[in-house]
Amino acid sequence: MRDPRGFLRSEYRELVDQDLDWKLRVLRGASTPRATVNGRENVLMLSSNNYLGLSLHPKVRKAAQEALKTHGAGSGSVRPIAGNMDLHEELEKKLAKFKGAEASLVYQSGYMTNTGLIPQLAPDREDVIISDELNHGSIIDGVRLSHAQRKVYSHRDMDDLRDQAQDAEDEGARRILIVTDGVFSMDGDIAPLDEIVRIGEEVGATIYVDDAHGEGVLGEGGRGIVSHFHLDHSRVHVEMGTFSKAYGVVGGHISGSQDLMNFAYNKSRTWLLTGSHPPPVAAACTAAVEVLEEEPQHVERLWDNTELFRKALREMGFDTGSSETPIIPVIVGESGLAKEFSDLLFEKGVFALPIVYPMVARGQARIRTQMRSDLSKDDLHYAFAAFEEAGKNLDII
Ligand code: PMP
Repeated sequence: MRDPRGFLRSEYRELVDQDLDWKLRVLRGASTPRATVNGRENVLMLSSNNYLGLSLHPKVRKAAQEALKTHGAGSGSVRPIAGNMDLHEELEKKLAKFKGAEASLVYQSGYMTNTGLIPQLAPDREDVIISDELNHGSIIDGVRLSHAQRKVYSHRDMDDLRDQAQDAEDEGARRILIVTDGVFSMDGDIAPLDEIVRIGEEVGATIYVDDAHGEGVLGEGGRGIVSHFHLDHSRVHVEMGTFSKAYGVVGGHISGSQDLMNFAYNKSRTWLLTGSHPPPVAAACTAAVEVLEEEPQHVERLWDNTELFRKALREMGFDTGSSETPIIPVIVGESGLAKEFSDLLFEKGVFALPIVYPMVARGQARIRTQMRSDLSKDDLHYAFAAFEEAGKNLDII
């Protein structure tokens, strides 16, 4: 007889036995630079995507409150039926202007953007999708939803990409889609987008960049990776991002041509079939874009803190890998050691999570830190002391 429930427990147990289950931590209160985590107060937060602290910005909070008063708590529908509010359209106009693109489109989340759009851009067996081996899981899931042939190139290896693009060309692919993270979320290094665009242009490929960790970080005033490389927007066909990181709210988005938007919203099931953003979310996102436009100092402070933090870690003897951005890993090797390191840091009042296999290759376990603009110099010095002490205790440095 089948047991419809037994596997729930046994499969969970397997994860627990391999120490691969997620142990959730609870933040009491806001995602502040010093937060209350699992009942412990005043913990320095180094594992948040809230790079610029915008979730706490007065203008962003006020916009959410106002929208709640004027538009209510929910939109009442999916966007194609009765849930397309003025607030959603305003956000898209504001974002497109900020990015310098012809148009933008907002999805419910970055995950839903990648899984809804990638399989539509290259849906069939005669299409080819070429993807960096370290691309984010939401890209991988998007690729899996397509029937296209899949090719994976070695991380940031442009010779490999060119070879694979040429193979796709030789095989007579109908469409070729090249997809890459802008900033890689585990290593904090930057995709060579200028070179990727040049290679793509040799074979007429569609270029798709997931700039989730580049927005609010790279380029002029945090406009992202396309601005960072001074590329013309017409050469990067899909500039994808999320409001859940530097913008401090939630929601995915794409920017590019009006043709792309018309195609994307009519074809993406993750856009068509889900209720639209609650009014306070849409209004808060718009306000966050405005803050980025009006207050470039947040991005400047983020970079000051990033340079200081990375330099200090390197000088102490830690291995920060190929990090070039506010994502700064501290690579220690074995999973057990990374977990011990993280626990010790937490005891010292620093929250920095371990990233272990299967999220990174075996032997590459690390603590992943993410810098923020709203950490003070005192906070950073507090973190340096904690890292140095814990690192010495565990013989990492
Ligand atoms: N792409 C990348 C590179 C990400 O890191 C994330 C978030 N973990 C996403 C997409 C998904 O974004 P969202 O949180 O908006 O679903």
